[in-house]
Amino acid sequence: LSMKILVTGGAGYIGSHLVDRLLERGDEVYAIDNLSTGKISNIQHHLGADRFHFLNDTILNEALLDRLASDVDLVYHLAALVGVKYVVADPLAAIKTNVTGTEAVLGAAFKYWKKVVLASSSEIYGKSAKIPFHEEDDRVLGPTSVGRWSYSTSKAIDEHFAFAYAAKGLPVATVRFFNSYGPRLDEKGYGSVVANLVRQALKGEPLTVHGDGRQTRCFTYIDDTVEGTLLAGEVKAGEGLVFNIGAEAETTILELATTIKRLTGSRSEIVFVPYRDYYGEGFEDTRRRVPSIDRAKTVLGFVPKVKLEEGLMRTIAWCREHYTR
Ligand code: UDP
Repeated sequence: LSMKILVTGGAGYIGSHLVDRLLERGDEVYAIDNLSTGKISNIQHHLGADRFHFLNDTILNEALLDRLASDVDLVYHLAALVGVKYVVADPLAAIKTNVTGTEAVLGAAFKYWKKVVLASSSEIYGKSAKIPFHEEDDRVLGPTSVGRWSYSTSKAIDEHFAFAYAAKGLPVATVRFFNSYGPRLDEKGYGSVVANLVRQALKGEPLTVHGDGRQTRCFTYIDDTVEGTLLAGEVKAGEGLVFNIGAEAETTILELATTIKRLTGSRSEIVFVPYRDYYGEGFEDTRRRVPSIDRAKTVLGFVPKVKLEEGLMRTIAWCREHYTR
């Protein structure tokens, strides 16, 4: 049975892949995106299709949100200013979009009593050293003078909004993404070490590894990220809960660089760069980031499928076609 679905951030990296899947299975999709980091090229192939409606507008437009929320059956709220580098560069825009924007989306959904899937982030856990991260674990953040933590904090406020509306009975499920990668990652690599390293490898430039390269992430292929997101919208038992959506394999950044160098056949060298050269003075990194996905497995039936090398090969193939040389 087909549904009418609103995807905020529908022209973004994750949003556009979600739009692909929804249209494939026969839903009617409304995508709203102000193209700040989203790209028209991500959804170009659907423009003009009967069941696809693109709105080049902001989620701060409450009149538009009101109309859309009244019309659809389900909302996937993915619009956000993401990428630590963007957030550090413009903390005000990040807070406005991620807090005021989410308040507007949830408020509109609440008015018409429509289910919402809220996209949150593994950045929520901050620099907690308790590995793996469980959804109910404490968050450990640095001081507010460190811009990076504004993203984590803004997403935490979003989650509090979600819980507050859930307490009033609104069906809301929250997904925390762990380092998603795949086709359509922005070439500049602001939100992704994968995009940065692949671009460098393809151009024959040095692969820049920050710090000692022993910090870790669990890189999650886009198809798995989208699968977890879809499930959160479908599974009734997930309402009122928050879920880690990520792969379980922990990879150091140095291993990632070595693998990308090998898979691209690049002759680039791997260089170590101090954090401050990239992020400026006073940056704090997350040393290890690993999800527990027990809850997503049990409640949603989420099983990540794509191994890092396979996902990287698909990503590299796409980047070869789409990144400028
Ligand atoms: N990183 C790196 N080289 C780059 C870009 C990022 O070594 O060219 C590191 C970054 O400092 C962090 C990790 O890769 O330790 C992941 O960064 P990313 O921006 O992809 O996402 P994060 O997990 O920090 O949100």
